[in-house]
Formats: sequence, C-alpha cells, structure tokens
Amino acid sequence: MLDPALYVVPTPIGNLKDITARAVEVLSAATLVAAEDTRHSRILLNHLGINPPRVISCHDYNEGARAELFIGEIKGGGSVALVSDAGSPLINDPGYRVVSAVAAAGLAVVPLPGPCALITALEAAALPTDSFRFIGFLPPREQELRETLGGLAAERGTTVCYESPHRLMRTLGAIAEILPDRDLAICRELTKVHESVYRLKGREAPGFVGADPDRQRGEFVLVIGPEAAAPDPVGPEAREALRDLLPTTPLKVAVKVVAALTGAPRNDLYEVALGLRGAGDKG
Ligand code: SAM
Repeated sequence: MLDPALYVVPTPIGNLKDITARAVEVLSAATLVAAEDTRHSRILLNHLGINPPRVISCHDYNEGARAELFIGEIKGGGSVALVSDAGSPLINDPGYRVVSAVAAAGLAVVPLPGPCALITALEAAALPTDSFRFIGFLPPREQELRETLGGLAAERGTTVCYESPHRLMRTLGAIAEILPDRDLAICRELTKVHESVYRLKGREAPGFVGADPDRQRGEFVLVIGPEAAAPDPVGPEAREALRDLLPTTPLKVAVKVVAALTGAPRNDLYEVALGLRGAGDKG
C-alpha cells in the first residue's frame, strides 16, 4: 500500500530492463496510473505483468483538467503514478502542470529517479558535465534555430538538446556553419540495439552523418561542448605567487615582484591581483 501522493515514475527510453525496482513497486501498487498515451504504457505494464485498477490518459491537452481528478484521488487516500511514453515525465513531456497543481493543493509529490535521454547522453558524450544547460528540442524554424545556435557562441557550459531525425541534417548543417570548432556528441538510439555516439567537431558532422543513412535514423540527443576558455595570460604559478604575496605586500609591489619572477605581463598581473584582493583596493 502506497502513501497517498503523486508519484513521478520514469520509464525506459529503449531498453526495457531500465526500469527500477522502485518504479515497478509503485506502478504495481498505485490506485491510478496517469499515462501520456495509455496504449503505449499498457505495453510496458503488460511486459512487467502489472494490471493497475485504472490507467487514465494525461497529455498536453488535458493535463489541467486531469490534475483535479488526480488531486481528488489523492485526497481520497489513493496514489497516482505519473508516466510518460518514455523517460522522465516533465522532461520535454507532460507532467509539469499536474505536479504544480498537486503541490499547490498541499499534497505530496514523490519523484523517482530513472531513465532520461539527456542524462544518458551526458554519460556518454565525453564532454564537460560540471555545468550544462538543457534546451529541449531545437526550434523547428530556420531563423530561430540559427538564433539559438548563435546564442551558444559564448556558452561556457555544455549544451544538451533533443532533435528529431527528420530535422537532424538541417541542424547539423547549421551547427557546422555557426559552431564549426565546437566538440559535438551525436547520441543516437541510446540504450537500444543501434546505440551509437559520434564524437566529432561541429564542422565534421554533416559530412560524417550524411555519408550513411543509418546514421540519420532513430532518436537523437545532441551534446554541444563549451566554448574553449580564453588562454590564461598569467599562468597558475604567477597566480599562486600573487596569492602568497598579497596578504603582506602592497599590490603594486607584489605585481612588480611577480612580473620579474615569472615574466607574466604586468597589466594582466595587475588585473588578477585586483581580483584576488577585491576590486577597488589599489594597494
Ligand atoms: N522524457 C524523455 C526523457 O526523459 O528523455 C524525453 C521525451 S522527448 C518527447 C523525446 C526525445 O528525447 C526524442 O525525440 C529524442 O530527442 C530524445 N530521446 C528519447 N529517447 C532517446 C533515445 N533512446 N536515444 C536518443 N534520444 C532519445
């Protein structure tokens, strides 16, 4: 028996084994399963041998109205398991309005971790993951696509986006033009039989993917690496020396000494020293 709540339940993005034990437990015990597409979710439920008392549709067009039904179910002591067609609900899938309404009603929302294409792609992309931005599907219109990609020109973190197979070649053409030097990981059919990860430069992508129709088939996550940081004109040793000297030495003297010791440009050292000591304190 589950505590009365809305349970947000991720489901596999390809490989049916990627369902957690907890997801199975919740789907088995929920008094109601809210599914983006009931026929689609029935296939998974049948595969798992689960036959919930009720499976009700909850998609982009009825989410608002459905939220009231789910709130009534939970208030009556029931438990609602929210699933989408694949992966994590709410991530480019329905669910946000239901979660908002349930939370606003003061009822419990229980999130389950699990499959998600964007996270799975990051695991394989071999690109920095310390800072990343997920931007969902790239805009379908050419002009907006170019604006979005242009906006990534100065992006210092990794960017993750979803793209449909029929727009893939167009998008790769725009990436090659606008972000030619960026590292790119094209993650295709993750967790499935034809799983492939193509790691290349933006400029190489249209030629490589265009060379083989199989490389254009399936589901895709694009991971775009960050803009390379500008080279450090000062270097780690000079920074370290400044850090050591500044607490006990006037700023200008510290800059002069470190410039003489390391050969680093005085203007750059001065900027770094100001940053270390705090802007405005000229020493
Ligand atoms: N909620 C899902 C999640 O957690 O990732 C995403 C749903 S979104 C409507 C579907 C898109 O996710 C696909 O068009 C594709 O870009 C990406 N996607 C889903 N499964 C994938 C897979 N197995 N391999 C690559 N991309 C996938």
